[in-house]
Amino acid sequence: MLRFDIDLNTFTIYFIDVILPIPIQKTFTYSVTKEEADFLQKGMRVAVSFGQSKMYSALVFNIHQTAPTLYEAKEIHQILDEKPIVNPTQLKHWEWIASYYMCSLGDVYRAAVPSAFLLESETIIHKNESFSNTELLSDQEYLIYEALQRQPQLTLHEISEVLDKKKVFPVINQLIDKSVLYIKEEIYETYKPKLVKYIRLHKNYQSDASLQELLSKLARAKKQRDVVLTFFQLKTEKKPIKAKVLSEKSGISPQIIKALVDKEIFEFYHIQTDRVQFKGEENPLKNLNQYQVKALEEIETSFQDKDIALLHGVTSSGKTEVYTKLIEKVLAQGKQVLFLLPEIALTTQIIKRLQNYFGNQISVFHSKYSVNERVEVWNNVLNTKVKAQIILGARSTIFLPFSNLGLIVVDEEHEVSYKQFEPSPRYNARDAAIVLGKLHKAKVLLGSATPSIETKFNATQNKYGLVNLNRRHGNVQMPKIELIDIKEKRRKKEMIGHFSDRLIQLMNDVLEEKKQIILFQNRRGFSPIVECTTCGNSPQCPNCDVSLTYHKYNNQLKCHYCHYHRAMPNFCGACGNASLDTKGFGTEQIELELKELFPNHSIGRMDSDTTRGKFGYQKIIEAFEAQEIDILVGTQMLSKGLDFDNVLLVGILSADTMLNYPDFRAHERAFQLMVQVSGRAGRSEKQGMVAIQTYNPYHQILQQVSTNSYEEMYAEQLQDRWQYHYPPYYRLIKITLKHRDYNKVNDGINWLAKALQNVFGEHVLGPTAPAVSRVRNQYIKNLMIKIPPRQSLVKTKEQLQKIKITFESVKEFRPIRFILDVDAY
Ligand code: ADP
Ligand code: ZN
Repeated sequence: MLRFDIDLNTFTIYFIDVILPIPIQKTFTYSVTKEEADFLQKGMRVAVSFGQSKMYSALVFNIHQTAPTLYEAKEIHQILDEKPIVNPTQLKHWEWIASYYMCSLGDVYRAAVPSAFLLESETIIHKNESFSNTELLSDQEYLIYEALQRQPQLTLHEISEVLDKKKVFPVINQLIDKSVLYIKEEIYETYKPKLVKYIRLHKNYQSDASLQELLSKLARAKKQRDVVLTFFQLKTEKKPIKAKVLSEKSGISPQIIKALVDKEIFEFYHIQTDRVQFKGEENPLKNLNQYQVKALEEIETSFQDKDIALLHGVTSSGKTEVYTKLIEKVLAQGKQVLFLLPEIALTTQIIKRLQNYFGNQISVFHSKYSVNERVEVWNNVLNTKVKAQIILGARSTIFLPFSNLGLIVVDEEHEVSYKQFEPSPRYNARDAAIVLGKLHKAKVLLGSATPSIETKFNATQNKYGLVNLNRRHGNVQMPKIELIDIKEKRRKKEMIGHFSDRLIQLMNDVLEEKKQIILFQNRRGFSPIVECTTCGNSPQCPNCDVSLTYHKYNNQLKCHYCHYHRAMPNFCGACGNASLDTKGFGTEQIELELKELFPNHSIGRMDSDTTRGKFGYQKIIEAFEAQEIDILVGTQMLSKGLDFDNVLLVGILSADTMLNYPDFRAHERAFQLMVQVSGRAGRSEKQGMVAIQTYNPYHQILQQVSTNSYEEMYAEQLQDRWQYHYPPYYRLIKITLKHRDYNKVNDGINWLAKALQNVFGEHVLGPTAPAVSRVRNQYIKNLMIKIPPRQSLVKTKEQLQKIKITFESVKEFRPIRFILDVDAY
């Protein structure tokens, strides 16, 4: 029967294009009813099925009336949001990222939003043990709650069965909001800063005269007198005195000490808060010194006709103080501020400083936060809450739903950790932040003591404003840098283990003065290589093409690329002789040597073995700040913007490995690392010392570090980059193939090399195998495309994309993982 009587509206069909959180290249089209189309807005989520039976939270990207031509549009399951969770500016930013970094919008979507927004049929949910207030729950919610009592984790499929319905995403979302359940990602600890109680004389007794008075006053209270006398003994060590230590040393109970505090003879304090007060920090911003004032003026002038400026300020010049002035002004205009930091776990100091000024206008976004915490920050930014006026965080913070950014600060802009390596999108957060700034018409300030060659180049080309700040605050001098020739020292037998007599002497002098020391060794573990002295064999990782590193404390061999580990063998696996020896050295070995060399001092170690967990870094940093540690040895983590008052000496145990990396950025990176580590020395009053041990004291980079000659380093590196066709002149796209089967990777890369050479000719480098050519049983091969200054980037990417599609249409190549990395590091 013909049906001509249908309402006209049903002939008008509506469609939405959605972003699925999976790596498919394009958006996908679904059909919606007119009512749904009227209700939906870009940036809302809808539940859709895709593939056989999978359900995803997809994001609406477009609403239109054009049916897809290649497939029949399915209906959506349901709408998940009342309002968009992603705004139009973000979508534009995502499009830029997808196109620039050659990835799918789905990759960006997955990286950008907290995983709680990405419910899908495979998601596993867990019950929140601490939830008990079941009165809050609706009938359906209660059913799920009950099911979770029987079985602590459920998939969304199982929940569908419990409720006997398909549309379960909304009720799950409500249960997450009510904290009844959560999505498991990683375990997170809760942390309370360690508040060690310290003791000092009450301010009434800080002069000598009053001390006499005090002792005579206590003449008849023997125990109390003993406490005071012990206190003065301990005080000669010139270190903060723990209440507990005073009690132990004097043999007097904590109660009696407490009584002395009540009498206002002593007072308790906590070093954390005291450190801040000690410098006279109040809530108002500090007054800038004359050089900072000038820098601020120059930045503001440059912002009149440029959107981006580089603040090139030496370590401890007070860049942070300059940022705060700009932040204050932007907040006064009612705009948001994004403050990017290289690695958030390391920068609790800066967070504390900014919180001290801006208090509850700051939110911190942290990839190690729980899902719920991240959703909370996301929603606060989305709803432009007061406490989300300034957002601090590492690279993924660029994805928050900002609506009116006025300023983006990228602190330590040269840091490699701004670049994401894995998974896609392989973006550089500094560069993506610059684009974000443009979309918001916001200003972008890049700060560093050692700017990346690219940024400095852009600044000298007048693309960015350039502002220099060459003096440390308080006219503290730059540290004095001494190069120690350890080849010579070895020859003269003036080395003990890995320490030259000169370094030991400097260390003794500093310890004598009750000052602290930082030692840098860019390798963790005990020794990177174990070798048989009979046959030369060294134990390898079975999954990766790399030697195992010896960790002495648990007598294990570990792989630093996968999680493989095993006991250190007694005999060589190849020849069977008991002649295994260790070569090279890491932080663990240095720590052990230090314990022998300085038995009366406390030694700390900071590397990724000792800083596991959300607050691993914080604990070590706090202990060092509280001067519980005299000598801190660590890896490059030590280079990241830490500010300690009491460090007088920085030692670099071996500069050579850094300089010899086979990478065009190796020299730049070595310079940055050494200058940054050196910058930790002598940040207040007294001039700091830096001792660099090396086999090659005449290396130009070491000379440049020792004379603090950034400009010379820059000019020389730039020359090399020009000559050998590297950034900032040429752009790089790296192509990586990975597969378990070596021959497959090899065939694939050779095919690809030919195809690329046909188009790009001499600008294709490789194929090459990386230094570690197999990781987790995957063989790896690389190709690099160099893009000359005048070649179109867009066109190059189009051609590359075409070749990639052809490659993937070859049946044997299909299982190979194909990775594109634009502006590769
Ligand atoms: P940078 O980030 O350039 O390395 P910081 O901002 O950390 O330098 O400043 C170094 C130290 O000097 C910090 O302890 C900071 O509090 C202090 N400082 C910098 N500028 C001032 C100022 N104008 N007034 C008071 N203290 C300052
Ligand atoms: Zn391995």
